[in-house]
Amino acid sequence: MSQDGLVSASEKLQFDNRFTASLPSDGDDGTYSRQVVGACYSRVEPAVVQDPKLIAISVEIAELLGIAPDEIKQQDFVDVLAGNNLLEGMDTHSACYGGHQFGHWSGQLGDGRAIALGEVLDVNGRHQMLQLKGAGPTPYSRSADGLAVLRSSIREFLCSEAMHHLGVPTTRALSLVTTGDQVVRDILYDGNPRPEPGAIVCRVAPSFIRFGNFEIFAAREDYKTLQQLADFTVATEFPEIEDDGPDRYVALLGQVAERTADMVVEWLRVGFVHGVMNTDNMSILGLTIDYGPYGWLDNYDPNWTPNTTDAQHRRYRFGNQPAVAQWNLVQLANALLPLVNKVEPLEEALGLFGHRFESRWSAMMAKKLGLPSLDEAADKALAEDALKVLQIIETDMTMFWRELSSVSCSESVEPSDRVKPLTKAIYAKEQVSEEQKLVFTEFAENWAARHRGLGTREEARRASMNSANPKYVLRNYMAQLAIERAEQGDTSLVQELLDLLKAPYAEQEDKGSYYALRPDWARTKTGCSQLSCSS
Ligand code: AMP
Ligand code: MG
Repeated sequence: MSQDGLVSASEKLQFDNRFTASLPSDGDDGTYSRQVVGACYSRVEPAVVQDPKLIAISVEIAELLGIAPDEIKQQDFVDVLAGNNLLEGMDTHSACYGGHQFGHWSGQLGDGRAIALGEVLDVNGRHQMLQLKGAGPTPYSRSADGLAVLRSSIREFLCSEAMHHLGVPTTRALSLVTTGDQVVRDILYDGNPRPEPGAIVCRVAPSFIRFGNFEIFAAREDYKTLQQLADFTVATEFPEIEDDGPDRYVALLGQVAERTADMVVEWLRVGFVHGVMNTDNMSILGLTIDYGPYGWLDNYDPNWTPNTTDAQHRRYRFGNQPAVAQWNLVQLANALLPLVNKVEPLEEALGLFGHRFESRWSAMMAKKLGLPSLDEAADKALAEDALKVLQIIETDMTMFWRELSSVSCSESVEPSDRVKPLTKAIYAKEQVSEEQKLVFTEFAENWAARHRGLGTREEARRASMNSANPKYVLRNYMAQLAIERAEQGDTSLVQELLDLLKAPYAEQEDKGSYYALRPDWARTKTGCSQLSCSS
């Protein structure tokens, strides 16, 4: 029976390994740590794990790959998802890349604990790379173990799926399995290591190529491999670029710049802080990638970062993400320079980031406010005011925006009644001064007056605003609760959150307890307000 299940699932997975077939490989298939030169990847097999158990799957991704959820649940296929069972057609490998970490060049990094299984054709005929994160040592593991723990794997699995359903470009996750092995981690790097359950997420994306894949060859002056990688990327991921001279690399940069701008605007819309925007964690497709010490804003604070490793300089704080994305794009431009040999066209392509960001940001903020655009100065001012109001006193970002849609614009409503929904989003309600109350009230009055001036229809406005302002996001404490329970053996909350976050814009009245201010206990708790890179 289980063998039949495996045969049908594996037969449905049609591998077509373009990355490994087209690009140079490392001749050595050992897993020992080393510098790999002149190659885009190393062939490496996942480590065998003791007792693979399926914790969760994404039904949508299974369907995208043409596999029935029941087939995935067969133990033989769970073994595939844990790296214990390799299928015909797989070409397992880890990619070589470098990166700038926290603003400094780090040299070779690479897939230190990610092993790609190969590319499959999805039901739409598109290539999807399957990758096991936490599958064991690779040549890029340096002194680390190549493994991942349940805590960080739940965070990656839930968040990447939640982001997708929010409409944010992201890598996806097919499955979450536990390995049955224990993995030792020192969560806060403070000399308190403890064993944790090992786990593996099967990530899925058309490509996992990062800015750092280009940077490593430029840094090594290996322009031949650099060009091979750039040509491969254009041919497979940006086929609309038709130019066959050096301008194609300029076009590539321009496209990446625009996609990156779109991605960051979406982060700002939903309150997501990536936490480690190093260039090795920047996807060439503009997908959110590498869910490590990320976090979600509860109270709106543009200076907040969840990453304790970054606590001092806050390079990757919420409000700095557009600037860092641009800085990262400059590193990509530098990496492509040897193929273009002219600075001006690359600078021009980089300029697309700013233009795209401005226009998308304005459109995004207009939609959050229920306005057609921010073209008028008065509307731009309303957007700026909203962000100011959010900061005068500790105010929940998600609830503020969601509640705004239910604020009435009618002239007959008293200001003190109109503002009421918004005040639900305030944390320390008893500490609000009269002056602060006035700021909230004035904002609500101005916003309502503007809508009256525009003759906005209430129903349509509410529906449109609710499609830009999610009701449910993966608040840090929610993921932490799911982790704590799962570590005790009860994984039901992982499934509950996965289901909840599939429809983040829907009312889901029976799930109302997740539409609430962050509980007090979560304010300073590890895993909720502070996270490290330990995963
Ligand atoms: P990250 O901060 O997760 O983006 O990781 C930065 C680099 O460290 C990448 O090259 C990772 O593959 C590598 N890395 C992180 N954790 C591990 C681990 N447990 N074992 C091996 N390599 C790792
Ligand atoms: Mg990474």
